[in-house]
Amino acid sequence: MYALARPLPPGDSLRLRFQVTHKPGGFSNNGADAQVLQNGTSFRNLEWLPVLGYQPYRELDEAGARKAYGLPARPATYSLYDVVARGYAPFPEQISFEAVVGTEANQTVVAPGTLRRTWIKAGRRYFHYATDAPIRNEYAFFSANYAVQEGKWRSSLAGPNQEVAIQIFYPPGQTENPARMVRSAQASLDYYTKQFGPYPHRQLRFVTHASYAFGHHAAPMNITAEEGFFLLNPKADERGFDLVTAVVAHEVAHQWWGNQLKQAYVEGAGLITESLAWYSALGVLEHKYGPEHLQALLRFLREENKTPRTRAAKPLLQADDFYQNYRKGPFALYALSQYIGWDRVNGALRKLLAQHRPGTRPFATSLDLYRELQAATPDSLHPLLHDLFEANTFWELETESATTQQLKGGTWQVTLNLQASKLVVDSAGTETKLPMKDWVEIGVFAPAAAGKEVGKQLYLQKHLIRSGQQTLLLMVPERPAQVGLDPRQLLIDGKLQDKYKAVQSKN
Ligand SMILES: [Zn+2]
Repeated sequence: MYALARPLPPGDSLRLRFQVTHKPGGFSNNGADAQVLQNGTSFRNLEWLPVLGYQPYRELDEAGARKAYGLPARPATYSLYDVVARGYAPFPEQISFEAVVGTEANQTVVAPGTLRRTWIKAGRRYFHYATDAPIRNEYAFFSANYAVQEGKWRSSLAGPNQEVAIQIFYPPGQTENPARMVRSAQASLDYYTKQFGPYPHRQLRFVTHASYAFGHHAAPMNITAEEGFFLLNPKADERGFDLVTAVVAHEVAHQWWGNQLKQAYVEGAGLITESLAWYSALGVLEHKYGPEHLQALLRFLREENKTPRTRAAKPLLQADDFYQNYRKGPFALYALSQYIGWDRVNGALRKLLAQHRPGTRPFATSLDLYRELQAATPDSLHPLLHDLFEANTFWELETESATTQQLKGGTWQVTLNLQASKLVVDSAGTETKLPMKDWVEIGVFAPAAAGKEVGKQLYLQKHLIRSGQQTLLLMVPERPAQVGLDPRQLLIDGKLQDKYKAVQSKN
């Protein structure tokens, strides 16, 4: 740590010269360090370059480690209601970035911004990058012998006709996905700029990173894509949806949720980054491929529901684990969009972003998101909003019997007996039954074709369902084969029972 002899006045500048030496010592249980490689070096500013000021993100947050070093206890994630902690966000400042980077003559360097110039001097190739608009202070440098897939996206909105260069820097030979990634980036930019507001940069890149993993990380403009991702083959995916396009849409969404909307580092941070990124990607997928494809993606995301887990949890507003951030949060936002409409939810997100411009304070929390969702939701659905975000709610819905008979004139009448209840579970696991009076989707379906779970949808409407046993009479134009209570699983079903039940014929 270095301290200045004289404090730096506001607005003044200081030139800092430094040299970094990297010397990996052996390897860890997680594998070898892959930052400096003969072909595929990549490192991040926050790990390699000096930082200014105290950096809470470097604190030990694991209880055992803190104890071992004699440090006072602190929560691994600060409370949403800790007003002091809400004043902190990692790398919150907006910076302008300019760098000249040298590498081997046959390699390409990727860094944020526009590539201004490249040249060779004394057998090494140099790259000069500079940003055109400020970025969040988090970035990486990459150097490798990449293959490049390029594309363009042009805004169709009124105003200055923005053009964005899309580049996928991928491992040579792994040609299955780059073109698909470009198409997804184009569809995502199209959808997000219309729904949430402008993309502030003129480049959008995915850059491969040496690893066996499949994950991504979205810094401003440049998204790190683990090498394993390029091995995925969407055409061979029997689940019938395009995972590559979905993941790219999720990462591009972080250019809004994470890189524009700056979240305070407290509980619920995952809800306004990861959940919003998945929610946004769902919109892109439905827009690009239609509602059926979206349901296939949702089925994939719901596979996580099969993992046994305790029902004890904090409400979503205080989300702090993988399941809440990446699954329950997106499901809740999607459910809301199916009750009040995509436009209203997206409008709330647009307002949230407008009130938390990059580089401004206070940093956004899940409470700011919640306020916007409340404003966008009709009073009649405020109880649902509460159940989805402010409490850890489970609905239990069960079809007791479903019968049908054909009436004179050809219409089919379905008599549906169902049982419903609702409970909340707190973070200690205490379960409390609540009276239920909620709108629930009820579906009726024609016989399923061979190999399909369910047939053509004959009926899908929301009904006001109360606690206990009740009977519904539904009319459908064709012979029904199955009924479904909340067939799209918009509400969280505590029993995870079969969604569909066969209809018995009375005539
Ligand atoms: Zn993400």
